Amino acid sequence: MRILVQKFGGTSVATAERRTQVASKVSEAVQSGYSLVIVVSAIGRSGDPYATDTFLSMVKEICSDLPKRELDLLMSCGEVISGAILVSTLNSLGFEAILFTGGQAGIVTDKEFGEARIIRVEPGAILEQLAKGKVVIVAGFQGMTEDGQITTLGRGGSDTTASALGVALEAEAIDIYTDVEGIMTADPRIVEDARILDIVTYNEICQLAYQGAKVIHPRAVEIAMQRNVPLRIKSTFSDAPGTLVTNMHPDRGVGTDITTDRIITGVAHTPNVTQLRVVTGDIPDKLLTDKRIFKAMALADISVDFISVQPEAVLYTIRDEVASKAVKILQNMGFEPGIVSGCAKVSIVGAGIAGVPGVMADMVEALSDAAVTILQSADSHTTIWVLVHKEDMVTAVQILHQKFQLGI
Ligand code: ADP
Ligand code: MG
Repeated sequence: MRILVQKFGGTSVATAERRTQVASKVSEAVQSGYSLVIVVSAIGRSGDPYATDTFLSMVKEICSDLPKRELDLLMSCGEVISGAILVSTLNSLGFEAILFTGGQAGIVTDKEFGEARIIRVEPGAILEQLAKGKVVIVAGFQGMTEDGQITTLGRGGSDTTASALGVALEAEAIDIYTDVEGIMTADPRIVEDARILDIVTYNEICQLAYQGAKVIHPRAVEIAMQRNVPLRIKSTFSDAPGTLVTNMHPDRGVGTDITTDRIITGVAHTPNVTQLRVVTGDIPDKLLTDKRIFKAMALADISVDFISVQPEAVLYTIRDEVASKAVKILQNMGFEPGIVSGCAKVSIVGAGIAGVPGVMADMVEALSDAAVTILQSADSHTTIWVLVHKEDMVTAVQILHQKFQLGI
């Protein structure tokens, strides 16, 4: 059996017309002889009647603290509705389709409601239906605990569902269909001349995704990478070839480096970040104090980023929405942190950065020529990050895209 997993995002299933285009992708795959598993997201975006954010705002209007278990039950509905509508669409066109919830599809998760992790996939039920010639539709973004509770996988969770199924079913490929024609050198909403990347490694995309390129969820990339299942990011609305994510160049064979010809792959951005600066003073137990600060953040479930430990202070960033919670914790510990809210993280990513001198210098030069203030910076062998004021974010992304000649 040649299995193909196709995932369709919210914008791809939003209208009847778009669902017809989904059906033609399904039809092409079936005609090519594939057994097909389709993962769907909820229909549309915030404000649309069946979008997950719409459900959430409905309950938040009544009471802001629905228990996490019930929140997950609510949040799992959008994908089920979307799946049922797609079953009708496909059935009306003569395909035999069957819908599974995440749990019915064999996706077993831990008990972290809202951010559950898949611990294993039991693909038996899907395989049984594929063997009968059915197109299997799976509600994305959700799973079930060992004891039968419905969980959701966090933002971008449908991508993760698709990858987990692709790996468990030993699929030939995982196709992520969306509203752009592939992974681009920057978010096309910000950079007009962003270019489609035709082939990239899992590592490059993982980094880009972690740094904010929301076209695919980084966890989905990691899962596909574990078994080297090719990922393809394509448009539902065109026949463009899209982006192939793999470790092996299709023309050059196993072990060939597909990135040798470029230093920088892309620019990504993450808005809504707050920088905190905690002055600890040059005290004898400074390290212990630093440790206490980060432990307190971890205990409160606040994830920290951009950490810089300095002789008399620690500097780090958090998401804007948890800033007041973090500040309260620090104040209770006796600190009065310096707060710079409304920041954005802008990153350049590329496997070629390591070993090429002057990339950081070029970055700093380009930003300072454009009068962008760098609040903080850090680097690794594949990524250089800068923290900027949110007003400068778009300029910073555009300038870096231009500086490293990533455009068309
Ligand atoms: P879906 O609903 O299909 O999951 P998403 O909104 O999650 O779609 O992802 C697609 C969007 O990601 C695009 O419309 C685009 O604006 C945005 N995006 C951000 N960075 C990139 C990038 N580097 N390449 C392509 N798209 C990007
Ligand atoms: Mg998405």
